[in-house]
Amino acid sequence: MKIKSMFERGTVFSFEIFPPKKTSPIETVYNTLEKLGDLNPDFISVTYGAAGSTNKVSTCEIASAIKNKYGVVPAAHLPCINYTKEEILQILDEFKASGIENILALRGDINPDIPPKKDFRYASELIEFIKANGDFDIAGACYPEGHIECDNIIDDIHNLKKKVDAGAEHLISQLFFDNSCFYSFLEKIRIAGINVPVEAGIMPVVNKNQIERMVSLCGASLPSKFTKMMQRYEHSPEAIRDAGIAYAIDQIVDLVSNGADGIHIYTMNNPYVARRISEAVESLIRCRK
Ligand code: FAD
Repeated sequence: MKIKSMFERGTVFSFEIFPPKKTSPIETVYNTLEKLGDLNPDFISVTYGAAGSTNKVSTCEIASAIKNKYGVVPAAHLPCINYTKEEILQILDEFKASGIENILALRGDINPDIPPKKDFRYASELIEFIKANGDFDIAGACYPEGHIECDNIIDDIHNLKKKVDAGAEHLISQLFFDNSCFYSFLEKIRIAGINVPVEAGIMPVVNKNQIERMVSLCGASLPSKFTKMMQRYEHSPEAIRDAGIAYAIDQIVDLVSNGADGIHIYTMNNPYVARRISEAVESLIRCRK
């Protein structure tokens, strides 16, 4: 099933997982999927390490298992900067052969130790290429607070429009902790003529190291409500986990009440956290107007 059609039914609710590192057995992720599949997400997406920390075999294999073993619609992430056109064609063939219909088309982060191949510079070029070479549902990434490499949000939105014009049919956002950033972003992109559905990316923060790493990578701003919570509970793993889950639920209630097209949970392969959030918001998500 193509993800695009899901937005016609109402709010889309999805999970993101990552493949185990090359040094860990692939089975570890199946234990996670066993539990996530029970939570009835609309789809589960699988990341793909642009810098070679994971490989295409595991993303493709896991996405195929999501469909065939757990009965959930999969989406495979596909970063392009380290691939030639020929290599991307081969990956598309593998996705097709595995019954994967949904792709999140990405540029990927540039690794200073790996010189990018020159065939694709931006995700929009990959999107155009996928569109010309198969019948896939294509999603793109978007950044409510601007992509970290872009000097201003207006340029970033112009670049986002190129992805949608190239064929991205819906978008998944970078994580954010301040919903007002997301609402202001939505207003700007709608004015810019970007009218595709946008899923809000929510990361439940369950420990202090995780948040420090994430913020340094993506530059999300932290509201004082959030930083006070982290400071107060940082010495208690249980309290910080519960506060992080409560914060994510609070964000989702507000987003769904304000008509968000979808909620995409960065599960960090943690089914316990995904379950607590899903159970808390399920009736809201499934409540049709
Ligand atoms: P692009 O859309 O190409 O944008 C990259 C930068 O280039 C931006 O600053 C943009 O403004 C600029 N730009 C775009 N087009 C042009 C143009 N024509 N001219 C000038 N500038 C331009 N990474 C992975 O490696 N694997 C994953 O599985 C993965 N999953 C992700 C999932 C989500 C939901 C998100 C939000 C990100 C994910 N990433 C993943 C990270 C992503 O690869 C990085 O954020 C990367 O730096 C940018 O990717 P992009 O597809 O948004 O790039």
